Amino acid sequence: MSAEPITGGCQCGAVRFRIARLGRASICHCRMCQKAFGSFFGPLVTAKGLEWTRGEPARFESSNVVRRGFCAACGTPLTYEYAGGTEIAIGALDDPELAPPAIQVNPADKLSYVEGLHTLPWRLAGESLAVDAFMTSVKGRQHPDHDTEFWPPASHDKGETT
Ligand SMILES: [Zn+2]
Ligand SMILES: [Zn+2]
Repeated sequence: MSAEPITGGCQCGAVRFRIARLGRASICHCRMCQKAFGSFFGPLVTAKGLEWTRGEPARFESSNVVRRGFCAACGTPLTYEYAGGTEIAIGALDDPELAPPAIQVNPADKLSYVEGLHTLPWRLAGESLAVDAFMTSVKGRQHPDHDTEFWPPASHDKGETT
């Protein structure tokens, strides 16, 4: 395991966290995770020693036993909290490579096309001038993948792209 602190946060940077140790990473196919992430499944990793270092998530009680944390400013899904502990959204980690999923759960709700996603054709740079021009024009307002002393910067034009 890396000696670096494990950090992460939401897209806008209003909520940042630090984790002492990551547990097992999973993807959950349940319908509630699909909704909560607005995605095909919920990627989550157990977070031991979780501290909020900037702001704190808002929460939605998605069931009688679970509440889900998210950034009230930008909507990034952040946590799955239950009596057994807290899990953090893998994509919210500054380095999601630290949490390769080891198991998938709740197969009954799995979307049929998930199996074939890795076989889809790629759109590559150079195939569309319009798309390439659009991508070049992007000036991201996303918090960078590391802690910052001040956020947001004085001008978003100084921010990182994508
Ligand atoms: Zn945010
Ligand atoms: Zn789920």
